[in-house]
Amino acid sequence: VEWIDTHTHLFDKQFRQDLPAVLQRASETGVRQILAVGIDHPSNLACVDLARSYPQQLFATVGIQPNHVAECAATDWDEVVKLAQLPEVVGIGETGLDRYWDRTPFPQQEDFFARHLTLSRQTQKALVIHTRECDADILRMLREDFAKHGPILGVMHSFCSNAEVAKECLEMGLDISLAGMLTYKSAEDIRQMVKSVPLNRLLVETDCPYLAPVPQRGKRNEPSFVVHTGACLAECMGISRAEIAKHTTANARRLFKLPEPV
Ligand SMILES: [Zn+2]
Repeated sequence: VEWIDTHTHLFDKQFRQDLPAVLQRASETGVRQILAVGIDHPSNLACVDLARSYPQQLFATVGIQPNHVAECAATDWDEVVKLAQLPEVVGIGETGLDRYWDRTPFPQQEDFFARHLTLSRQTQKALVIHTRECDADILRMLREDFAKHGPILGVMHSFCSNAEVAKECLEMGLDISLAGMLTYKSAEDIRQMVKSVPLNRLLVETDCPYLAPVPQRGKRNEPSFVVHTGACLAECMGISRAEIAKHTTANARRLFKLPEPV
């Protein structure tokens, strides 16, 4: 059984001590490929370094996460555009919109999300989209882009909105990725929502080091834990773990154009 963790923040200082052991556990658990997702200029560079240090296993995405837009330097966007051209960079983001935290004025978030949308079109690399408490805003911007340019290549990461939002995202071409929250007792609505998503549009992720899935909840999250989210997703969909692993892995590999592991 083979898995792909499509969203990690392995640059985080919580991995500084033991990253090789973390990656070893991932591969022993069948987590063969992992996306290292950048959120600002320093972490974008770190993700590219990681992808170079662990070719085949790690791949980078680069972008400015909405909560980090306000703090970025004037040249940071140009650096994203440059890094996005590299072969070890397989996706654009994370990007998106966030009304939960108030760290970046909303118009500035919209400006940067629009830039990521354009960069994804230019590079043909998939978007990694974060949305928190702003479904209406994200759908408005996605609809606008979709109306002008057609299907959008990307994933709604750590998705926890409702089935209607999922349906609209799917119709615009976006895939849906589930994180550890799916396994939480209180997340019955997410478990109901996923049943409406076709098997060929689902991905899994840890979003580590945050929000580890049950039964590891409360611990530092890491890529090997993605199997727990996968197991929960299999149960929701009424299929075996092997089947959900096969589907989510094929979907992630297709979306981010990842090579077959050697
Ligand atoms: Zn993230």
